[in-house]
Amino acid sequence: MQIKIENLNKVYRNGNYAIKNLNLEIPNGMFGLLGPNGAGKSTLMRILVTLMKPSGGKVLVNDLDLAKNRREIRAMLGYLPQDFSFFSKLKTYEFLDYTARLAGMKNGASRKTAVDQMLEEVGLFEARDRNANKLSGGMKRRLGIAQALINNPKIIIVDEPTTGLDPEERIRFRNLLSNISTRDVIIILSTHIVGDISSTCNNMALLNKGELAFTGSPEQLIKEA
Ligand code: ADP
Ligand code: ADP
Repeated sequence: MQIKIENLNKVYRNGNYAIKNLNLEIPNGMFGLLGPNGAGKSTLMRILVTLMKPSGGKVLVNDLDLAKNRREIRAMLGYLPQDFSFFSKLKTYEFLDYTARLAGMKNGASRKTAVDQMLEEVGLFEARDRNANKLSGGMKRRLGIAQALINNPKIIIVDEPTTGLDPEERIRFRNLLSNISTRDVIIILSTHIVGDISSTCNNMALLNKGELAFTGSPEQLIKEA
């Protein structure tokens, strides 16, 4: 997988210039998108997940133009938004089963296998009968990842994933993402916490006021700083 961002610009209707002439290559593996509040991270995410059009420039996914191949590219996407919430009343496995159904898995038996495997992978198998709403913050985040992964996406976008997690859950969540990133996928991790990126990502970009301030490895960034 590869994403190429070419001369990307986004100006909101009110004149806010959120992304300025951004050129960036995102290779396979885990990619960190670092920047303070207002840097343009969410704007870039919204463009990448096709929720918003850029004002100029383009995004290529494996050489496919995002603007012209939205449907194909959407089928490759898994997205875990920052303010992730669950349908009330559903048990953990029911929630994931419902997601799998929406993703088009019609066969009940193979859906059950996929759901059970996914619950196992994110460490929620024991919690499968618990109400999804009543899980801890870290467990909810892991259920969110399970939901984003259920239809085998090639591009996984995770927005501020460790906000509000305790240190133990934070490490657990980072390890989970690291394991997933060994497959042929791109995981984009948007965060303002350097530790989320330095411990997990091979490559990263630093955004500041909509502009690319750095791209390379987290080690390089720390050396240059
Ligand atoms: P666009 O210019 O891309 O069409 P809109 O002006 O329609 O975007 O704004 C989309 C949403 O973002 C609106 O709900 C608006 O209230 C909200 N919004 C406006 N300004 C800001 C801001 N500075 N930061 C975050 N959200 C904002
Ligand atoms: P980050 O996710 O890094 O905090 P954002 O992409 O949310 O950055 O914001 C980048 C800039 O664009 C900020 O100046 C913000 O106020 C502005 N912005 C974000 N969303 C909107 C919107 N919908 N309408 C107008 N301005 C926005």
